[in-house]
Amino acid sequence: DRLITATSRDREEQQDRAIRPFRLAEYIGQPVVREQMELFIQAAKRRREALDHTLIFGPPGLGKTTLANIIAEEMGVSIKSTSGPVLERPGDLAALLTNLEANDVLFVDEIHRLSPIVEEVLYPAMEDYQLDIMIGEGPAARSIKLDLPPFTLIGATTRAGMLTNPLRDRFGIIQRLEFYGTADLATIVSRSAGILGMPIEADGAFEIARRARGTPRIANRLLRRVRDFAEVRGEGRISRQVADRALNLLDVDASGFDQQDRRLLLTMIEKFDGGPVGVDSLAAAISEERHTIEDVLEPYLIQQGYIMRTPRGRVVTRHAYLHFGLNLPAGRGA
Ligand code: ADP
Repeated sequence: DRLITATSRDREEQQDRAIRPFRLAEYIGQPVVREQMELFIQAAKRRREALDHTLIFGPPGLGKTTLANIIAEEMGVSIKSTSGPVLERPGDLAALLTNLEANDVLFVDEIHRLSPIVEEVLYPAMEDYQLDIMIGEGPAARSIKLDLPPFTLIGATTRAGMLTNPLRDRFGIIQRLEFYGTADLATIVSRSAGILGMPIEADGAFEIARRARGTPRIANRLLRRVRDFAEVRGEGRISRQVADRALNLLDVDASGFDQQDRRLLLTMIEKFDGGPVGVDSLAAAISEERHTIEDVLEPYLIQQGYIMRTPRGRVVTRHAYLHFGLNLPAGRGA
């Protein structure tokens, strides 16, 4: 199990409930997204209308689900949550839609994984609040039309490029979440530590933040593990030194990379001469799935400038060589 994976785990979800922000004012960072959403929510509330359909995209763990829940809370409506792969048949979606109250939120995580037949049903629902489905089969089949209450669809996806154009076009609001800066992550860590009742020094929070790959979920996870360390081997408070020792023990290095990141970078350097290498070859070489590389591993490495995406494949940059204390191969200035 990967400590710094950005995807969530079940048990963690439970523990997370306590530290998950519920209001926009508690949502740290993402100032542009926050300001825009505050405005759109106020305007919709003033008109007593449903908020426009909203698409949120960004790598795992950056706060898409949290933001969707906050939007419902701020709108004063209920939220029903599901995910693309769970909605197998049009009827699954119909059941959810017909249970919504006026202006409610339907949250669909991993919306890029909706099946085409379900997506078809979603179009008129989003556009005209109309449900148009076939029931029965063969000669007995008939189509029924139902009016739906106005509602807000909030879709979340890790990659906007995976959405079909007709679906993307039906969202009035599109928000992109960015990796968080260290200062914002340190605020998140301090806030979470406060809720967990764990004394933490500013330097300690900063050290955890620095190694959390720009991702709140990872920051909170590292905090829990550092807390264990502090309780057992420290003095029950998180200083910079305690955080540093704990994270080293956990094999999260100074840049927040773990074995998997290092393996990816080293494989590119050692087996592919630094690239360009296609993502499928890379996936085979490190025995990972292609989408794990694309969704989980590489976005942060790209954002931090360790990897570049070129038309001919992925290339490591000089930062990667420097990270491992390696000399740049001759003739490479990247
Ligand atoms: P995603 O849906 O993008 O995978 P989540 O919304 O589940 O990510 O966020 C993961 C965890 O990180 C949340 O449970 C929450 O505790 C924390 N978190 C995310 N965004 C923020 C934020 N802006 N401020 C504070 N905590 C956050």
